[in-house]
Amino acid sequence: MKIGAVLIDIDGVLYVGDRPVVGAERALRELDRRGIPYRFVSNTTRRSRRSVADRLQGLGYAIPEPWIVTAPVAAAAHLREEGRTRCFLLTTPDARTDFEEAGIVAVEEGADAVVVADAAEGLTYTAMNRAFRLLMDGADLVALEKDRYWMGPDGPMLSAGPFVAALEYATEKEAEVIGKPSPAFFLRALREIGINPDKAAMVGDDIVTDIGGARACGMKGILVRTGKYREETVRQSGITPDLVIDSLANLPDHL
Ligand SMILES: [Mg+2]
Repeated sequence: MKIGAVLIDIDGVLYVGDRPVVGAERALRELDRRGIPYRFVSNTTRRSRRSVADRLQGLGYAIPEPWIVTAPVAAAAHLREEGRTRCFLLTTPDARTDFEEAGIVAVEEGADAVVVADAAEGLTYTAMNRAFRLLMDGADLVALEKDRYWMGPDGPMLSAGPFVAALEYATEKEAEVIGKPSPAFFLRALREIGINPDKAAMVGDDIVTDIGGARACGMKGILVRTGKYREETVRQSGITPDLVIDSLANLPDHL
């Protein structure tokens, strides 16, 4: 496969739960050696970009923070560009710092937008109902991601998607999705490398957001059999990856 740059998903590709994927770090060094540029695109919304970088460091990956494109960072920049700076943030306190650093003001009343992330225990009835009321009062619904679930250390975990869907159902509003599979999200990462989508590949464990999203914006989609990969899910998706590999460790063999 002739590829000029690679976008790489983090959760389920570099690590699963709290364990690094064997051989993944060596694969990244091989990309470095061959001069193939890469960036990371993650729908992880519980953590700030700094925490994501720190965590990766702890797992043995030395990845510069600016190489990591996360949905909170992209959303904060996007909201700021559009002047929607007063937001009700349904996020973890950690992810909130990405918004504060971009100049977004967290409000409980009169919000321009309701921003929904995987806020874990923060997604209480009280918080969801406040979001619902703000949306009914005219705020826009912005979803950092709309994934159904992710693979945690002890099993599958609800992602932001089910909560976004609940708010969409209640308000009959459609959420603007910032993270994968939004084309703007992939293009933001590719812009930093300065490469067109048709010369790039996306490596991920989610057949819909990673592979479907990448293919929809003209990239090649490479599915790994780690993380949340399930053969049955792939079959049901109706999406055909350009390549399926056992793990990121095998990527250099195919480039
Ligand atoms: Mg993943």
